[in-house]
Amino acid sequence: MKKNAVYPGTFDPITNGHISIIERGAKLFDHLIILVAIRNEKDTLFSLEERTEMVKCAVSRLKNVSVEPFKSLLAEYMKEHHIKFVLRGLRAVSDFDYELQMALINNELDHEICAVFLAAQKEYIFLSSTIIREIASYGGDVSKFVPECINNKIIKKIRSKHVHNG
Ligand code: ADP
Repeated sequence: MKKNAVYPGTFDPITNGHISIIERGAKLFDHLIILVAIRNEKDTLFSLEERTEMVKCAVSRLKNVSVEPFKSLLAEYMKEHHIKFVLRGLRAVSDFDYELQMALINNELDHEICAVFLAAQKEYIFLSSTIIREIASYGGDVSKFVPECINNKIIKKIRSKHVHNG
């Protein structure tokens, strides 16, 4: 039987830290589905559609990775698609509480669900989507921290925000 996994997240926007988890996950599993979670649009810089497109562009070279927007409960999605593994990344102790809580509740909802954690690479431990949004909002260069094909999209988005906000 094929070993498939999901990698859920907000990816607002996707960073090289996420990519490092995805590349390693793609080697561990036969197929990895990245689930881009819906969020209140007021709380995200990019819309669900934009986030999904950016992730697609960033992982297009990985043949066993696919990307889907995701609007339901993770445990239900996994049950429906017969997927047992959920991949997550761990940066520091600060990630651990939340990740453990999610792993336990998902397992409570469906005992088949197994969370698999990959440690962040040391060069990405400090990297988060929040930090990227923060640097970019002040006009800082984030090109070192995000996939090449999405850097321009971040610059464009920040500029359009500044135009609208004056
Ligand atoms: P969420 O909103 O669910 O936290 P994110 O898109 O921020 O979604 O993150 C998705 C997953 O990727 C989480 O497990 C998070 O810990 C992990 N992650 C985020 N940034 C990094 C990084 N720099 N290195 C390793 N894992 C990361």
